[in-house]
Amino acid sequence: MAQDQIKSVQGTEDLLPGQWGHWRRLYGTAQRLFELYGYGQMRTPILEDARLFVKGTGETTDIVQKQMYSIPTGDPSMRSREAESIALRPEGTPSVVRSYLEHNLHKQEAFQKLYYVGPMFRHERPQKGRLRQFHQLGVEAIGSASPLLDAETVILAVDIFRQLGLKDFRVFLNSIGCAECRPRLRSEMRARLEAREGELCEDCRARLERNVFRVLDCKNERCRAVVAELPPMTEGLCDACKAHYADVRSALERSGVAHEEDPHLVRGLDYYTRTVYEIKHAGLGARDTICGGGRYDGLVELLGGPSMPCVGFAIGAEATILAMEAEAGPAADTTPRPSVYVVCFAEGARAECSALAQELRHAGVAADMDFQQRSPKAQMRAAGKLSAAVCLLLGPDELKRDEVSVRTMADGRQWNVPRASVVREVSALAKLKKGGGDAAE
Ligand SMILES: [Zn+2]
Ligand SMILES: [Zn+2]
Repeated sequence: MAQDQIKSVQGTEDLLPGQWGHWRRLYGTAQRLFELYGYGQMRTPILEDARLFVKGTGETTDIVQKQMYSIPTGDPSMRSREAESIALRPEGTPSVVRSYLEHNLHKQEAFQKLYYVGPMFRHERPQKGRLRQFHQLGVEAIGSASPLLDAETVILAVDIFRQLGLKDFRVFLNSIGCAECRPRLRSEMRARLEAREGELCEDCRARLERNVFRVLDCKNERCRAVVAELPPMTEGLCDACKAHYADVRSALERSGVAHEEDPHLVRGLDYYTRTVYEIKHAGLGARDTICGGGRYDGLVELLGGPSMPCVGFAIGAEATILAMEAEAGPAADTTPRPSVYVVCFAEGARAECSALAQELRHAGVAADMDFQQRSPKAQMRAAGKLSAAVCLLLGPDELKRDEVSVRTMADGRQWNVPRASVVREVSALAKLKKGGGDAAE
């Protein structure tokens, strides 16, 4: 009896050879622009000590409370250094800061621009557009409080989306205050929300105690109605935060980056201070954020480093791919296709066909042949299906004369070429016929 076929884990996705078009374009564009703006690439492990996120991302966040994959290391041989549990990273920022401190980057040069790309993991309730393994591309600029830097990160993200050809996105901006004014903001907000506690959802009533700012993130209609009537957060900022926010906005205006204020934008993470922003795409429905970011001036210190102001963002790869599909349609198929197909007309010629294919590849021509012992007719059909521009035919006659038959597929012309010059002749032909414009990059 056939066994049950094992399927992929819920909330994860496979990417097949033909499906890389938008992905390659996104990764290529983002990495090129990250480096153009001076960001150096980091790769940190997917596995981290779970305490990094409990401390860094925040104990009261949904990410840590409900969504983080945490694996207890009860078996001492499994223990990674002193970690009692290891987590599959739910986001990138705490990892980058950990690595920055662990490798003493701040002692080499206090100001560092760093970027990362890779998968993140959150145990979310599965539903459309919500994955448990998803992918982010992010930057972190560590060691400066300059509002010009906040603006520069927004401009960088906007540049990436523009170069991807996206038009239908908007930038939303807010400031949520600093260590000085945030406690006051928090208590004022708690007082206002407690007065209307009966209108809030159960989760938000609990949030009033633990983390009142989280109420502003709630998707519940009734909660949103209450939040909409709160005064703008920027009204309660201290003078330094007000000035910082004004400088960020004027830097964006000078750069021609249109943005709107969202007076109740908070982002679902504990470490943000002052500037927070989101970039949303109109073609995505309810989960429309393609980039989220902001300033996190307290995080480095919280993770055991010196006081070090930072700002950064993460682009959601899957959401951005959906936005690219919404505006430009599906990407071109990225399945590799040979320009030249070597057709074997006799079993005795197979080794020579293989040698010929290798020579072509070494000359930079995409070449392939049959590996299924198919008949010459079936091989020709395969070549047509792969839309090869040229077929090279090798049989006993060709071998005897030390020649190869060349056939151009578009017009069916066929002629013989000496074996010694076939690679040179076909290279020119195949490049001519291939015509480019295959995979978007
Ligand atoms: Zn402040
Ligand atoms: Zn709520």
